[in-house]
Amino acid sequence: MSIISDVKEVTELIKKIGNQELYEKIVNLSDDIFTLREENLALKEKLKELESAFETDNKLVRHGNYYCVEGHEDALNDSIYCMACWDHDRKLVNLIRESGYDGVTISCNICNSRKAQ
Ligand SMILES: [Zn+2]
Repeated sequence: MSIISDVKEVTELIKKIGNQELYEKIVNLSDDIFTLREENLALKEKLKELESAFETDNKLVRHGNYYCVEGHEDALNDSIYCMACWDHDRKLVNLIRESGYDGVTISCNICNSRKAQ
C-alpha cells in the first residue's frame, strides 16, 4: 500500500467516527503529503537533469570557442556545439558552419553567437 492510499483509508475511518477536529487534521495532513509528493517528483526530475548534464559535461572537450564530444575531435566538421549555450543554459546546440566571401563562419541559431574560423 502506498502512503496515499493509507491516508485515504484513515480519512474514511475518521469520517465514519465523526470526529470533526480529527477529520480536519487528517485532511490537512493529506494536503501536506500531496505537496511533499509533488516536491519530491520535481526534485527527482531536477536530479535527473543535473545527472544528465554532468555526464554530458564530462564528455565535452573545448576546441577554441566551441565544444566537441571527447573521442570525436576528428569529426569537428559535423559535431561541434555552442560554448555559450552549454555554459549558460546546459543546452547542447549544434553549430552551423557556413562559407562566405569573407571565409568560414560558425554560428549558433539559438544565441546567434558568431565565430570566425
Ligand atoms: Zn548558442
